Amino acid sequence: MGTVQAIACSVKSYGRAMAAACYAAMPGFLSGLKGKVSILTYHRVLSHSELSTQYVQPGMYVSVDVFDRQLQFLRRHCTVLSFADLLAMWATRQWDITQRYCVVTFDDGWLDNYRHAFPLLKRYGIPATIFLPTDYIGTDQWFWPDRISWLWPRWNKQSGAEQHRVWSAVSTQHAWCQGLEQALMGGDIESLLEGCKPHSYDRIDHFVQSWADALGVLLPSERQVMNWDEVNEMSQSGIFFGSHSMTHKILTTVSDEELLQEVQGSWDALRRRVVRALPVFCYPNGNWNERIGRAVEVAGYEAAVTTEFGYETGVPGNLYALKRINMHEAVTCSDALLGFHLAGWNHRHG
Ligand SMILES: [Zn+2]
Repeated sequence: MGTVQAIACSVKSYGRAMAAACYAAMPGFLSGLKGKVSILTYHRVLSHSELSTQYVQPGMYVSVDVFDRQLQFLRRHCTVLSFADLLAMWATRQWDITQRYCVVTFDDGWLDNYRHAFPLLKRYGIPATIFLPTDYIGTDQWFWPDRISWLWPRWNKQSGAEQHRVWSAVSTQHAWCQGLEQALMGGDIESLLEGCKPHSYDRIDHFVQSWADALGVLLPSERQVMNWDEVNEMSQSGIFFGSHSMTHKILTTVSDEELLQEVQGSWDALRRRVVRALPVFCYPNGNWNERIGRAVEVAGYEAAVTTEFGYETGVPGNLYALKRINMHEAVTCSDALLGFHLAGWNHRHG
């Protein structure tokens, strides 16, 4: 990030903190949430020591102490429901318009959810649902953005001359990745990750492997996602598990046959292996369209969640396009900021 962007960013976060403090002091604090359900999206929950030793995308984590405070905040200010209860309330048209409902969800099945989030959820008696990419569970596979994030500090340690040598070795093997040169050489990991997104996982995996080879490092393989024993232990303690496909492929890019397999196969795996399998689908990367929504419905799911910001009410517009609120450290790290974020102020523009 350049100096100008850094200043703009800190002015923005200072302004947000001031506005959030004013909002928290208003008599109508959170009154706009009455009669709505906020479905919260978490990804990773990490300790400060874990955060100090790795790059994690800013939109992907909250720290353990922030998560702890958030659960206490939710207990104080909201009626926290399990997703199963929410579905039952929608089905029976029971809805209290004086309540601020809230549902806690996690995407991807990170091992840190088991290590750090699960004990806190149990301590506060907060129900939650975790969406699993079923083929990853119990394996040592890494999602490609995390492999790039792991390589990033190792790449940045190299001299300019060495970086040019590595880049020419990689870019001659993979013509498609020419467009990533500016991000790589300019030290901009967010642009690098964005630049990879339109490409297939096979392509990205080959690129990441050649990059690691050219750098002379072995990609890490310690397990990052939970295994089925951990899933079942959590499930027996009241955590529900929904589907996040089998392989986390972006479903807007796959054939009908592959789509059916991702949607149906993951549901079959969940029902076979999990005590509390929840018939709710979570679109990988939030990408969906009519064709995918229909496939999810036909496979027997009762609802599906997106990454689009927003709330639902007693009568959702479309059960297969449920809106959620993404929770991450920068915008939710104090009670005032959390209230401000839940009330939607970070998403009101113009
Ligand atoms: Zn995901």
